[in-house]
Parts: sequence; C-alpha cells; structure tokens
Amino acid sequence: MYEQAIEGAKEHFGRVLQEQLERIERMKVDEEWIDYSRLKPIIIGVCGGDGIGPYISQQAQRVLEFVLRPEVESGKVVFRTIEGLTIENRAKHKKAVPDGVMDEIKKCHVILKGPTTTPRKGDPWPNIESANVAIRRALDLFANVRPIRVPELGIDWIFFRENSEGAYILGSQGLHVTDDLAVDFVVSTSQGSDRIIRLAFDYARRNGIHRVTVVTKANVVKATDGKFLDIARAIASEHPEIRWDDWYVDIMTAKLLSPKRRTEFRVVVLPNLYGDILTDEAAEFQGGVGTAGSANIGKRYAMFEAIHGSAPRMVQEGRTEYADPSSIIRAGAMMLDHLGYTDRAHKLEKALAAVTKERKAISYDVKPHRDEPTPMKTSQVADAVIEKMRRLMAHT
Ligand code: NAD
Repeated sequence: MYEQAIEGAKEHFGRVLQEQLERIERMKVDEEWIDYSRLKPIIIGVCGGDGIGPYISQQAQRVLEFVLRPEVESGKVVFRTIEGLTIENRAKHKKAVPDGVMDEIKKCHVILKGPTTTPRKGDPWPNIESANVAIRRALDLFANVRPIRVPELGIDWIFFRENSEGAYILGSQGLHVTDDLAVDFVVSTSQGSDRIIRLAFDYARRNGIHRVTVVTKANVVKATDGKFLDIARAIASEHPEIRWDDWYVDIMTAKLLSPKRRTEFRVVVLPNLYGDILTDEAAEFQGGVGTAGSANIGKRYAMFEAIHGSAPRMVQEGRTEYADPSSIIRAGAMMLDHLGYTDRAHKLEKALAAVTKERKAISYDVKPHRDEPTPMKTSQVADAVIEKMRRLMAHT
C-alpha cells in the first residue's frame, strides 16, 4: 500500500547516507589549524544580518576597530563589510546564504555576524534553511564555544557544543514520507564527535581545569548519543588528570538550576541540539540571551556572533536603538582571543562586565524588571565600553 512512499524515502535516505559518508572522508583528511600570527592582513568580515543585527554589529565593529587600532593602521587587520546576508536577499535567491555572499564570506578569515532570521511556518518568507547552519556547514565550523560567567553565583562554565552534526545538520532534509508520517535525521560520526570532545578536553588541560562534563541522552538515543559518549569515554582515558562525568540532558537541565550542584560544572561538551538548549538556559544566569557571545570555530575559518536572534518584536515596536550589543561585543572579545590578542580580549571582557554592572546598579524604578540592566541605547553601551577600554589599554 505504501510501496511508492517507502521507495521514495529509501532513495532519499540513500542520498543522505552517501553525502555523510563523503563528509567523513573529507574529515579524515586532517587540515592544519590556521596560524593568524603569520597572516597579513587578517580579514575580519562583518555581516549585519536582520532585525536588530545591523545595529548591534555596527557598534561591535566600532568597539573592535578601537581595540585593534594599531593593527588596522599597520595593515595587519582589515575590516570588510559583507552585504546581502538579509532575509530579503536570501528569500530572493531562495537560499540560506546566496552564492555571492558565501563567496565573500570565504574570502575573509574570521566573521563577526549579526543574527539572521530563519523563516518558520506562517512567516511571509520561503522555507529556507538557517543561515547559521549553512555557514557552519560550508566553513566546517564544528565547535560552538559559549562561555558563561557569573562570578557572584560561582558560575564559570564553558560549553563546547558540537556544531556540524546531530539533529541540525540535516534540518532541511527531513522527510514527509506520507501525509501522516514525518521523519528527521540525527547524525553522529566518530570523526565529528572526536574533534569536538578533544577540543573540550584540550581546553580544560591548557587552562588547568580538572573537570569535563559530557551531556547526552545515550540511555534512549542509543546509536548517535551512544557513539558520542563512547568516544568521550575513550578520550577521557587519555586525560587521567581530568575528572570527567556524564549526565543525561534532562537532569543536567534541572541541575543547572541547583545553586549547589551547578558551581561544580566547568567545561561541558555536548551534541548540537542539547547544546543549543542548555546554553540558552545557562545564558539566563548571566543576564539573558542579550549578554552571551558565541564562537563557531573550525580549523580554517571562525565566526563569532551573539547567541540571541534578530528580535523582530523590538524592531516592530521601534525599540531597535535600545538593542543590547553586549552579546555581540562579547563575541568580539572571543574573536580577539581566537586571533591571539588575548590580553585585549580579557580587557574587553572586563570593560563589558564593568559597564553591565553599572547598568544593573542604576535605580530599579527606571528598569523594566528588577534583574535586567537599565535600558541604554545601543551606541551608548558601545561608547561606555570604548571609554573603559581606553583606560584599561592605557595601563599596559
Ligand atoms: P530572539 O533572540 O530574537 O528574541 C528573544 C527575546 O529576547 C525577545 O524578547 C527579544 O526582544 C529579546 N532580545 C534578543 N536579543 C536582544 C538584545 N540584543 N537586546 C535586547 N533584547 C533582546 O529570539 P526569537 O524571537 O525566537 O527569534 C527571532 C529570529 O531570530 C528568528 O527568525 C530566529 O530564527 C532567529 N535567530 C537567529 C539566531 C542567529 O542568527 N544566531 C539565533 C536565534 C534566533
């Protein structure tokens, strides 16, 4: 009765498997990590994105240009604006990232990216894939690194979210086998799991951190999560100095709320979907998604972005100029660190923390909610950060 539907699905599945097996072969050809100290110029591409994206990225660029002024003047660093990563242009080309835009992105070494809209059912846009997912895949940005620090709560976490596989990698290739049956795919490979878990353990070792937590749902999602956990176990055995533990994502989500337990976590490594959810939860402790930054790292390219979206409601309500740029500025600090400007990265973190603290300290009656920072214009936040940086950089 369903022969035709099943045959169609099998054919589709065959193509999916072929593509994934070819990807594995590409991963096996180990690429060297890029060395920024030997590059001149390092090209930093800035993509505005949608909604509040262009406003916050412009301010983040202003901050970075100030911090990297000597390198910009010497020609070591070049900022390049990349146009066209907007939902209008993407819809026009019916592509997650139009070819011309992707070509421009590939001519840069690192990207600072504003949030981009991903159409969902009911939106006036064609059903195109997430631009982030497409860029991560095209540039093989396999690690999504998100630090969350709240010193007053004893929180100092860094999440290593697998970024090139899991439940998201084939997001637009799921199947409606019949009107009643929909099937999606989750992918886990030995090579993909190995490189992200290794990166997390290496980070822990380099930074003298003795605890790595692996999060899966391997008791239920046995094949893909099971593989991730098995590989974690093998890599952990190479690091006897690091205590590791594995948690199921449901209980881990709950334990992040436990004041006693959560302070024990330090480095957390997890598959794509769980990483997406847990890092948004974690960001809440730091002051909401407006405050967290994230790095998407591969061996050849890297992309840095805010973890929030394009906040369309803020735009509709005319509050764009109040969009908080802290998250994308923090992503900028991660970019500095990645490029080797570690001291200035730490200073930028410090400057941001100081500005956020000052904003939180201003009297409660001008704030929308008790724990939220005072509304300040996007450009005023950047001004305040630049002012702090001016002083911090003068003291070197
Ligand atoms: P969102 O992050 O845009 O908004 C969630 C809430 O946080 C809203 O109340 C918003 O006003 C607020 N907010 C977000 N950023 C803020 C900032 N900088 N300052 C102040 N408030 C801020 O999430 P959403 O509404 O679910 O998504 C909107 C669009 O963004 C969707 O199309 C989604 O697909 C896309 N998105 C993109 C990315 C990305 O490009 N990395 C990430 C998440 C969502």
